[in-house]
Amino acid sequence: TPASGAPEVTPTSDPSLAYRPADFANLTDALDYAARGETGLNFYDRRGRVATVVSYAALRRRALEVARGLLAQGLERGERVALVAEMAPAFAVGFFACQYAGLHAVPVPAQAGLGNSAGYVDGLRRILVSARARIALGGERDLEPLKAAVAGLQVGRVTTVAALLDEAGSGPGEGALQPLGPAEISHVQYSSGSTRDPVGIQIDQHGLMANAARAVRDGLAIGADDRAVSWLPFYHDMGLIGFLAMPVTCQMSVDYLAPEAFALRPTLWLELISANRGTVAFSPTFGYELCTRRAPGLKELDLSSWRIAGVGGERVRPETLEAFAATFAPAGFHATAFTPSYGLAEATLAVSFHATRHAPVVDTVDATALMRDGEARPVSAGDTAQACRFVACGRPLTDHQVQIRDSAGRRLAERAVGRIFVAGPSLMRGYVDNDANSVGAPQPDGWPDGWLDTGDLGYLADGALYVTGRRKDLIIVNGRNIPPQDLEWVAEQAVDRLSDRDTAAFSVLDSAGRETPVLLAQIRARDPQVRKRLRERIQAALFQSLAITCRVILVPPRSLPFTSSGKLSRTKARELYLSGSLGNAGPAATAGE
Ligand code: ATP
Ligand code: MG
Repeated sequence: TPASGAPEVTPTSDPSLAYRPADFANLTDALDYAARGETGLNFYDRRGRVATVVSYAALRRRALEVARGLLAQGLERGERVALVAEMAPAFAVGFFACQYAGLHAVPVPAQAGLGNSAGYVDGLRRILVSARARIALGGERDLEPLKAAVAGLQVGRVTTVAALLDEAGSGPGEGALQPLGPAEISHVQYSSGSTRDPVGIQIDQHGLMANAARAVRDGLAIGADDRAVSWLPFYHDMGLIGFLAMPVTCQMSVDYLAPEAFALRPTLWLELISANRGTVAFSPTFGYELCTRRAPGLKELDLSSWRIAGVGGERVRPETLEAFAATFAPAGFHATAFTPSYGLAEATLAVSFHATRHAPVVDTVDATALMRDGEARPVSAGDTAQACRFVACGRPLTDHQVQIRDSAGRRLAERAVGRIFVAGPSLMRGYVDNDANSVGAPQPDGWPDGWLDTGDLGYLADGALYVTGRRKDLIIVNGRNIPPQDLEWVAEQAVDRLSDRDTAAFSVLDSAGRETPVLLAQIRARDPQVRKRLRERIQAALFQSLAITCRVILVPPRSLPFTSSGKLSRTKARELYLSGSLGNAGPAATAGE
């Protein structure tokens, strides 16, 4: 039973209320519309019971009040409001309150599940400084870290959304509110921080609607009779745009599970989909891996209602999808539900997705041609060449374009691997640290002509995009370009006790200035003989599969660095390795390993 006493909100059963695709100019228009229906948001606790229910009508009512409370603080239009993105109604209310008040919300990570509190406060502080936040909001338990993070900064006040609700009376009347308009910024999204410190990205209302509504909602034909189940944090674009903004544009009900509850028991996600007849759910690849690993002993599930199983945010491994589909087919899961996608915060959320009613497309290419010549040459059946397999991330979204270019900016032909460039209405206005720049102005990553250089590498084949890796992460050995994911995969296959989150590959320069690949592997075993054997087995496998000599370093469990959105940061892993703080004694001492 819902703790709030309100009944759970469910997909609409009244066809006259069902959403019919419409364009909204901004988020408040969308919520004004959603509030006329009977759907909304259900927040679940870590046991899988409904804890709080907020209909869209209630969300709108509270957001309007909090907007008045915000304006009572004397904030100017367009100023930034940091908002700790707990998986809780207060975040959703605070986010929409900023929309109604004409302020720019800056969702910041919540601490739950992120561990290390000194590191957490540091991270918060960096965001508050970079965003020049004027006020910081959170739940009760966020106040302490927020106060520590704002020490000495120009942040006017640290308080809760609930407190602002009480102060609505001292703000302007509802009629005086001027919501953020179509041409204005909607919010500031911080990137994951896989390759750098997270950067603030200004998304505008127009871009948000182009992405969430016209591309994702309409591209996947999502509506009020769908039901989403999400554990994705609100401080990451997949959670915020995919599972708060997009649902509002179509009156879809959403069931939320906190990311930390998912981390404790990943299969709770599937149990909710099963119990609630969920139809839409997304996860980075690792979420599907975790569920497959925890499947044995699962109670009975019925996943037959699940029609869109989105996957992206990091390399989508064909093996992950195959294993998940095989494990859950008996529970009614359809492999055709898989919706591999590619996107980045700079493009609001998605750039492309595979939206057909067919199972994912896997492209098998010659590994040597790929790594040496940058050519994705299909391997025919029976060919014995070493092969790489990539999952198609589909076609560019409506109104968007993707080009593959070489380092000189020339467009490349089909099946040539190069830099992924994106153009279209969802591109950000610019980073917060150089406000003057807008689309069309050069950006740090190069953005001369309205095309964004994503920093990613990939190729196009039959109209679909294949992502091979990040440019910054690439390991270049003897003229071959090797994505670290390939080394990690080989190592994980060679040693049973390694799973997909246990390895990190990157390269360092040796004393002669040559790039040397390094692979870190999390291994619990302490016996020196066992460790030696494991290291040799990994080295042999890497040599055999990829013909590379790699420095293999065993590190203790839980020592690899992940971003707040759960991605492996190879950049950070490399830094930790070079500083000798990974339980290794530093590169010099371990060179002999
Ligand atoms: P930062 O930009 O701060 O270093 P980040 O790039 O991980 O971190 P996000 O914008 O959250 O931050 O993630 C987008 C990135 O995730 C893409 O640029 C790409 O590298 C990776 N990615 C997304 N989808 C896929 C996919 N389907 N396959 C491979 N990589 C993907
Ligand atoms: Mg990025």
